[in-house]
Amino acid sequence: MEHYLDNAATTRVIEPAVQKAVEMMTTKYANPSAQHSKGAEAAAELKLAKKRVLTALGDENGQLTFTSGGTESINTAILGVCRKYGRQNKKVVSTTIEHAATLETLKHLSDDGFTVVLVEPDKSGNICSEKVVEESRDACLVSIMAVNNETGAILPIKDVKKGLKAAKSPALLHVDGVQAFLKTDEPLSRFGADLLSVSGHKIGSLKGAGALYYTKGLKIPPLLYGGGQEDGVRSGTEALPAIAAMGEVCAFRIPKIEEELLHLKRLNSYLRQQLLSSGLPIAINSPEDASPHILNISMPGAKSEVLMRVLQQNDVFVSSGSACSRGHRSHVLRAMNLDPKRIDSAIRISFCPENTTLDIDALCEGLQEGAKLFF
Ligand code: PLP
Repeated sequence: MEHYLDNAATTRVIEPAVQKAVEMMTTKYANPSAQHSKGAEAAAELKLAKKRVLTALGDENGQLTFTSGGTESINTAILGVCRKYGRQNKKVVSTTIEHAATLETLKHLSDDGFTVVLVEPDKSGNICSEKVVEESRDACLVSIMAVNNETGAILPIKDVKKGLKAAKSPALLHVDGVQAFLKTDEPLSRFGADLLSVSGHKIGSLKGAGALYYTKGLKIPPLLYGGGQEDGVRSGTEALPAIAAMGEVCAFRIPKIEEELLHLKRLNSYLRQQLLSSGLPIAINSPEDASPHILNISMPGAKSEVLMRVLQQNDVFVSSGSACSRGHRSHVLRAMNLDPKRIDSAIRISFCPENTTLDIDALCEGLQEGAKLFF
């Protein structure tokens, strides 16, 4: 039996999404811009998917542009806001623990003459909202993630929004919601972001679709020019199988969101308990109040790659740090000033609602086996 615990990297596609994608590929396959009735049938699916994702985000009146995934949404948001609203305040504030999709985009902006300020986390991986707000008085954009993909740390989005308002900052707030989408008590738009990026393949849908949400009235210039699809914000024929499947996952998960969150919380505390009573020299790198679907741990003195190999031999799949920055020492754990031994033995375990305690038992057995090679 396979024990896939790398869901922050990507998820298995759930059955309703598979069925929807197949329907879109084999029956409703027309171009949604086509003038005939099959085009209209596809366009109706596009509209339905948009409504479903907006509902899952908690704002049916918001604007939504489908993209190819989280990376494109983030690029469109950051570059778009800076182009449209950044003429006077050429400054962006973010954090050092963002995903590469944000950090690399900001590097590009910095080369273009923008001032980029990155706030550091504290030792437990948390970001202080006051520090973000303090830097944002003369910025055009604050871009921060809702949940960190390596540690699960929850960033104080609501406090940042409140602070920006109180400080009368001109900055718009973009939130990378990729790891938080469908994993929060309250829908993501209620946290106060002006723009939000999400991705389909982290929630049980296909790779190749994501979305950029922005509040009514905001105008975002496109990254891609062409046929003017998605109200001109994202040209190119829509990847409708992936888009409709993303909508389907939202419709499937929304009625069960409380139950799924509770399940993730139970899995997280079961894992913490099992680790605590294992006798293994485990250090937990995730904050105590992190998002329940991610737990980052270390066994100082061991090596992540070796532990991962042993786990893999036991059909258990986890990640060392972030799958997106393979081969590099985690910039997130480094920003937390963790001991190099702790960083080099770090493992990220990440759940989806379909995981069970059997997966955790297999993981713990594998860790016991792996530890024997070092201690
Ligand atoms: N932001 C975060 C927090 C992520 O975890 C990821 C992917 O791991 C991304 C952005 C990029 O999303 P995508 O893979 O859909 O481009």
